[in-house]
Amino acid sequence: MSGLLDIKDLYVQYNTDDGVVYALNGVNLRLERGENLGLVGETGAGKTTLALSILRLLPDQVGEVKSGSIEYEGQNLLGLTKNEMKKIRGEKISMIFQDPMTSLNPTKTVGLQVREVLDLHFKELSSSEKQKKVDLMFHMVGIPPERQHEYPFQFSGGMKQRIVIAMALIAEPALILADEPTTALDVTIQAQILALMRLLQAEFNTAMILITHDLGIVVDICTKVAVIYSGQIIESGTIEDVYTKTANHPYTEGLFKCIPDLKTESARLTPIVGSMPDPEELPEGCKFYDRCNYRMDKCRDREPGNYVNGTHSIKCYLYEEKWSK
Ligand code: SF4
Repeated sequence: MSGLLDIKDLYVQYNTDDGVVYALNGVNLRLERGENLGLVGETGAGKTTLALSILRLLPDQVGEVKSGSIEYEGQNLLGLTKNEMKKIRGEKISMIFQDPMTSLNPTKTVGLQVREVLDLHFKELSSSEKQKKVDLMFHMVGIPPERQHEYPFQFSGGMKQRIVIAMALIAEPALILADEPTTALDVTIQAQILALMRLLQAEFNTAMILITHDLGIVVDICTKVAVIYSGQIIESGTIEDVYTKTANHPYTEGLFKCIPDLKTESARLTPIVGSMPDPEELPEGCKFYDRCNYRMDKCRDREPGNYVNGTHSIKCYLYEEKWSK
């Protein structure tokens, strides 16, 4: 049976003047209705490219899906026409970007911008029905509806992100892609926005992919987690699978060591040495080889498979014999 979102063996590249950038290299991901997935990885790992591929918003001429499929409720999004895709965006799948200013039009009132989503996707609603929905949405995101006649510059960063969340949710989409939605905000505001997203998402039974570089955020808000490295999902599972730390990909293990632990005394955090391989010249074998403390000869020559134990999957030879393929 098809899930809400089913991504199979997705390869995406950017064809630039300087060469081909291999951004996604065989991504597989599945999400059910109402589920929350944290997609974790460092800058350049392919997180945003994955979100843009789902929405078919890769840069024209440059971004190219080489192979694979992205199915939404059993329908391959890659086969839809531009007009069919317009109906999916906003109505079925919406996106919250990192910087709210890039999502808001500075020349229009915020109320008008939230309402535009309804004008586009819910033409059958009367004007007063739309207004009622807009008022309710402002109320739900914690902004007095009277303020909908103001412009983006009259709001703080946190308030602007609340407005963007209102825009993303007003059409009650089945899936939200939230790309680092709190990174541009102060720490105290981050917690408020995450709490708000969790509340609203439960209210609307919306599935969400929360894109972040912070494993700490994921545990508060998600039920599943996928770690992405060099355009590949190198570990995925439930929060329990990954956060109990009994079995992890060496990269995930390294990410955990970078999180301060208030319960133990340690003078320094342990960073992961080195950097991700050049996406224009990816190595043949394991993409984490150069940075891995457990590397073996075979890791350099051949790419490891995905080894599975129940809901937990790890792409690393350390699990070749213990888990099934
Ligand atoms: Fe390290 Fe080898 Fe596992 Fe890659 S496959 S993460 S190099 S042990």
